[in-house]
Amino acid sequence: MTDLNAMTPVRPGLIQTHPPRLLGSWCEACGTRVFPARDFCPRCESEATPASVELSPTGTVFSYTVVRQAPGARPVPYVLAYVDLDDQVRVLAQLDETPLAVHIGQRVQLVLRNVALPDDEARLGYAFAPLPSRPDFEEPTP
Ligand SMILES: [Zn+2]
Repeated sequence: MTDLNAMTPVRPGLIQTHPPRLLGSWCEACGTRVFPARDFCPRCESEATPASVELSPTGTVFSYTVVRQAPGARPVPYVLAYVDLDDQVRVLAQLDETPLAVHIGQRVQLVLRNVALPDDEARLGYAFAPLPSRPDFEEPTP
């Protein structure tokens, strides 16, 4: 099993490993959450420094594309998707799903994993993966 904490993150301040979460910012003036975290609110332009917040680990595919050509050694095809997290934050990320199975409205969950190219040093990043659709499956609570 890969030790996530042993990998260098793609960017500091994006990810928390225990529990796995993306880190955003939350505006105390209007309640807007954004990812990645910013030092101002893009909605109300509040001058108060936004608070750091853990974002929901589950969401729904808003839109996606299948990438069939990529620079370097990145294996193709892969799915790139806009995911609407359950707390109203839209995130662009790779979706670990076969191109024929992905669909708009699909329920997905955050996964933290190595996102480096095959021959490069491991880098901790984020992606999404399908949530099981069994009727008895209980989604994790945010
Ligand atoms: Zn605001």
